[in-house]
Amino acid sequence: MPELPEVETITRQLVHSVVGKRIINITARWPRSLTAAPQDLDDAIGARITRVERRGKLIIISTDSDSSVLIHLRMTGQLLLGVLEKPDQHERARIVLDDTSVLRFNDQRKFGRIQVISQEAAARDPFLVALGPEATDAAAVARALRRHAPRRRSPIKALLLDQHVIAGIGNIYADEILFTAGINPATEASALSIPRLRRLASACPEILNQAIDLRGSTLRDYRDLDGTSGTYLSVARVHGRKGQTCRRCSATIAYASVAGRGTYWCPSCQRRTRSALGNPFT
Ligand SMILES: [Zn+2]
Repeated sequence: MPELPEVETITRQLVHSVVGKRIINITARWPRSLTAAPQDLDDAIGARITRVERRGKLIIISTDSDSSVLIHLRMTGQLLLGVLEKPDQHERARIVLDDTSVLRFNDQRKFGRIQVISQEAAARDPFLVALGPEATDAAAVARALRRHAPRRRSPIKALLLDQHVIAGIGNIYADEILFTAGINPATEASALSIPRLRRLASACPEILNQAIDLRGSTLRDYRDLDGTSGTYLSVARVHGRKGQTCRRCSATIAYASVAGRGTYWCPSCQRRTRSALGNPFT
């Protein structure tokens, strides 16, 4: 599932390749992959793309008309830039541009969406409004953790994955960030001290910026705009490394379900500590 570094990679490529181009058409082969009121779709067609930005895991394409195009990649969504050609098996929708290039939205599992809405509606979109601060902003993440962690009995990993608390982190980078901060993923959020929360906040941009430099992670489906895989997993600290040796201490990387997600950690670098409440699992 694309997380902040993968979506940021695609967004930066879109800034270079589609800003200034005009939208000729937006069509869907799988109707539910495209959400658009007729008026908003009419406004978008013929409009020039003025800006592309990312918010959390969402791509926002603004135009010189009243319409914006929001792209939710979700589980298996891919955005590929090509020329007019026959659709792939998994193509669900496409945006045709005025230089005959095509943004193809492929999505094997069909959870992704292209949403065309007015700029006014985008500004008050419930999904966007509810997002927490960007995970690359250490100061904002530190404030969010200080506000939310003391009230949560859930594992700290669940808090990192909650897009209402921090926007952009998914299963891969949550594991990597927790390793970097030396925190066991099952630690109860409310048991973490302020210095440990601060360390966790600074680990977020450290990991995510490195992942952006490596153009993200490809487990199975993720490809960037050119169809290229990301290479972060070749340097991953713990994620995907069950049974392998910790790069820092040589202990064996552990794997179990935490917060309902397959989770990797180093049992030595990320020791469980007994919380003030005596919970043996923190
Ligand atoms: Zn270790």
